[in-house]
Amino acid sequence: MDTGTDLLIGIIIVVVMLLVGLGVGLAVGRRSSASRGGDGKGRDRRVDLAGGAQDLTPMTSADEDSGQETVVPPKPRVAIIVNPSKPDAAGLEATAGAVCRQEGWDAPIMFETEVEDPGCTMARQALEQQVDLVVAAGGDGTVRAVAEVLAGTGVPMGVVPMGTGNLLARNLDIVLGRPEWALRIALWGEDTAVDVAHAQIEPGGKDHAFMVMAGLGFDAAVMADTDSDLKSKVGWLAYLEAGSRKLVGTRTKVRVTVDGGEPFTEKIRSVVAGNCGKLQGGITLLPEAELDDGILDVIVIAPKNAVQWIGVAASVLGRNKRKGLHTEIHRCREIIIESEEEIEVQLDGDAVGSSTYLAMQVEEHALTMRTATRQQKRAIRAEGWPIPVG
Ligand SMILES: [Mg+2]
Repeated sequence: MDTGTDLLIGIIIVVVMLLVGLGVGLAVGRRSSASRGGDGKGRDRRVDLAGGAQDLTPMTSADEDSGQETVVPPKPRVAIIVNPSKPDAAGLEATAGAVCRQEGWDAPIMFETEVEDPGCTMARQALEQQVDLVVAAGGDGTVRAVAEVLAGTGVPMGVVPMGTGNLLARNLDIVLGRPEWALRIALWGEDTAVDVAHAQIEPGGKDHAFMVMAGLGFDAAVMADTDSDLKSKVGWLAYLEAGSRKLVGTRTKVRVTVDGGEPFTEKIRSVVAGNCGKLQGGITLLPEAELDDGILDVIVIAPKNAVQWIGVAASVLGRNKRKGLHTEIHRCREIIIESEEEIEVQLDGDAVGSSTYLAMQVEEHALTMRTATRQQKRAIRAEGWPIPVG
């Protein structure tokens, strides 16, 4: 029995880790202890990768001998919106200044987020300054706020992942743990049109954007219940601690409407809608989810008890179908969940309070993201990019 109990506890822990994976996790980054490649080889590659940086070198404004005016192209400008509470934030301004100098960009315009304003106002101010690119440097919360403002503007967005989960960066294959490389991807990467998801937590209420996953129930309750001091010290262990307290609980009866169809009722523990599907640790919660298909992938999780959570875990770990044990996936453009009881809601890992209503839609190709080119990915794998020189 001991072995069986241990196995059960082990599997329950895996389930908790899976389901609280949103916005959570090891800020592992793949920091390499290898040398940072500031050699001649790296520099040669940089010039290739920067492509066109030399064209942006300031020139004299006139050629007096020929009498012809030379038009001086302005250097491109980037605004960087940084969450100052993240450990990597302190050195970012100096790093970004050096990278921009090296790459022929104007000095970056720096903004800091605030607890009450995770990036929306700063993104609007950046747009007012007519920058060529806006970079969100922080976790998925900062990314969500900046994306909400940039959606529909056509101004490209870059990400410097500095959070605990960094789920959007993982789904877009943006390098983790190397801000200077993530910045170069932002400056010279390729423009990729991605979908933006939207959520309203009351009928006709304020619209919130999200980029990764939003939902209500168990996962949101865990995020709401997690001590933020503990989270900053021990990362995902804090969620594990909160999750273990939430695992045993009752299901809630909800009414679900998918794409305006006939509503149906379900008893659920959690409903999670994904704009993309990867969590940390190589786990994919929503195997068919794509960031650019104009579709939300929604998983309804409905185990009755701790034993059925094992089925959920098995379904998530071994998933290749839309219907698993005590889970079901809907692929849609809009889903509305209505409940008799208040249920906690989370957007990209941020608890936003309880509601009896959650509507979510997806807006296809609303945002232009900068992602790594194949050449950049090769350079990253080879550790072939130089460190910025101050
Ligand atoms: Mg999608």
